Amino acid sequence: SQRILEVADLKKHFPIRGGLFGTTVGNVYAVDGVSFHIDKGETLSLVGESGCGKSTVGKAVLRLFPLTAGRVVLNGTRIDDMPSGTLRPLRRQMQVVFQDPFSSLNPRMRVKDILAEPIRNFGLAKGGADMDRRVAELMDKVRLPRDAVHRWPHEFSGGQRQRIGIARALAADPDLIVCDEAVSALDVSVKAQIVNLLQDLQSELGLAMLFISHDLAIVEHMTHRVAVMYLGKIVEVADRRTLFGQPRHPYTEALLSAVPVPVPGAARERVVLQGDVPSPIKPPPGCRFHTRCPYAFDRCRVEEPPLADTGGGHLAACHLNDRPAAANPLLNKAPP
Ligand code: SF4
Ligand code: MG
Repeated sequence: SQRILEVADLKKHFPIRGGLFGTTVGNVYAVDGVSFHIDKGETLSLVGESGCGKSTVGKAVLRLFPLTAGRVVLNGTRIDDMPSGTLRPLRRQMQVVFQDPFSSLNPRMRVKDILAEPIRNFGLAKGGADMDRRVAELMDKVRLPRDAVHRWPHEFSGGQRQRIGIARALAADPDLIVCDEAVSALDVSVKAQIVNLLQDLQSELGLAMLFISHDLAIVEHMTHRVAVMYLGKIVEVADRRTLFGQPRHPYTEALLSAVPVPVPGAARERVVLQGDVPSPIKPPPGCRFHTRCPYAFDRCRVEEPPLADTGGGHLAACHLNDRPAAANPLLNKAPP
């Protein structure tokens, strides 16, 4: 399969300025060494609580700000250190769907102009008739009536607006779509429709998708692989079934325990984490999760666990996975 996106050891630190002269007095280690890839036709979900750095990863991939360190390779071309002028035409290949369909569409533009803008910017249409055809096809793709192109954003519901946002992203004919909490602001019933639409489009068009979400209940039904973030790092990566069925990181286990199981009587054992997420200004030494981990032991406080393959491409950053299976508490839960 074709590799669309490769991210290696990505870091984004935001300097904190203070004192009389505005000198740098510290850093927010928002993203602190993150690596992953997405292939053509694949969805990778990036999950974690708010503030874990997942949106910053999305913005870094889209090159919305300069990176502190690391490599971002899009369709075989390294873009992390590319000057913005050189990058501009490549932006067509990566598009974004934002969280809020109410603020992300220009209220002074009709839908047809909203959709025409990226087509024009990237020089994709061969004349007016081709432009009209492309706009009409985008409406078909997101299952909106073609004649709605003459209407204004305020004439649509939240779910319809998000369809327009998706159509706008598709207008550039991208290879990668970044969805940053793209369904989080929508009503429950609409959420499912938009998730289904994204899934359909993703497979129809063979898109690579980075689906950023705090909502594991949604991710459980739509992704190929999942990467779990905690305090600026990825702590676990696995295919969907493996991650939801047999997590190998205590943080993932805790997140999953809060996700409702649709089978009566088959609830996951609830794991309630102690304390708050530590500040990304001063992350804990050793394993960053040790201050809240129910299984933490001495080694965790001093030695950082690497994100290592526990078998079959299932990556986890936890010292428990060094133990024989019989002595690993993550693998010895009573079945639900
Ligand atoms: Fe918990 Fe230790 Fe594993 Fe970190 S390395 S998740 S503290 S058991
Ligand atoms: Mg966010």
